[in-house]
Amino acid sequence: MAATYRRVALIGLGLIASSMAHALRWKGLAGEIVGTARSAETRAVAAELGFCDRICETAAEAVQGADLVVLCVPVGAMATIAAEIAPHLAPGATLTDVGSVKQAVIEAVAPHVPEGVHFIPGHPLAGTEHSGPRSGFATLFVNRWWLLTPMPGADAAATARLRGLLEGIGAHVDEMEPGHHDLVLAVTSHTPHLIAYTMVGVADHLRRVTKSEIIKYSAAGFRDFTRIAASDPTMWRDVFLTNREATLDILGRFTEELFVLQRAIRMGDGPQLFEYFTRTRAIRRGIIEAGQDTAAPDFGRGAPAAEAGE
Ligand code: NAP
Repeated sequence: MAATYRRVALIGLGLIASSMAHALRWKGLAGEIVGTARSAETRAVAAELGFCDRICETAAEAVQGADLVVLCVPVGAMATIAAEIAPHLAPGATLTDVGSVKQAVIEAVAPHVPEGVHFIPGHPLAGTEHSGPRSGFATLFVNRWWLLTPMPGADAAATARLRGLLEGIGAHVDEMEPGHHDLVLAVTSHTPHLIAYTMVGVADHLRRVTKSEIIKYSAAGFRDFTRIAASDPTMWRDVFLTNREATLDILGRFTEELFVLQRAIRMGDGPQLFEYFTRTRAIRRGIIEAGQDTAAPDFGRGAPAAEAGE
């Protein structure tokens, strides 16, 4: 496939950026890949792994002459980075991000974007519980959704070009209004992560009573919670701080449902529990049929497939 951008600048070199770099290399979609990260250590690891053609010390330097700039830092760091790179962005360039929350990123970045630069916010619904430059792999985005939340009046040609690149690395691209994105993700990703963190926290309290039994006899349900709860603390702190309203809304609904099930258990209402679990099972089947997870027993453990992290 021919390169769709002459120079792609990746700001931040963790899981998402390194996966993008590997994928762009694999598909030959970027003439040159330039990267930068906050710490000298991450820059050194990225240089050693060689997934970028060039590593710069600063974000300002990295974006110079780039026709695509991708912000791959935690949501809470977007405003500072945007302010730093703004004077150095090339006219006509496209600026996008991969942040897990969209309204907050738009508020943080849009005020800094100079005239003539196309800001097209985005979010890949792909990830794992691993982070850092060593965790990336080229197939992370294959068959995963990548949501774009273009601003009103966004340049159609710039959006189509970005869409072409993302489809080129295997993603399915859809467009969504940013507020709607944040609500959908609060249901499908943010609140489930919070529940996993909480469940592992409960086990941690209990461990003081049962010593190592929880680790030793850890069964599928708890083990799967621990995988999610191992996700990057900075990223998830920022997600909850910036998608507060939608997460609180969904958590409120979750608590109400929990009380319904709690009452059914207390009352010994078997039919209600059975009917509830039958409905939820159908949702799982729908996800597998949509190709968003594996139906393999035990979540296909042992096969190094791209996990649906987000
Ligand atoms: P990651 O592996 O932890 O990498 C984050 C990168 O951002 C690192 O290179 C880090 O630099 C840099 N960084 C961190 N704090 C910074 C700051 N204050 N200023 C400048 N740079 C900073 O993270 P990731 O998983 O790739 O996530 C990146 C973005 O993608 C986040 O916005 C996240 O919400 C979004 N996202 C993540 C997933 C997922 O499942 N992980 C999925 C979809 C979207 P150092 O290494 O030098 O500290």
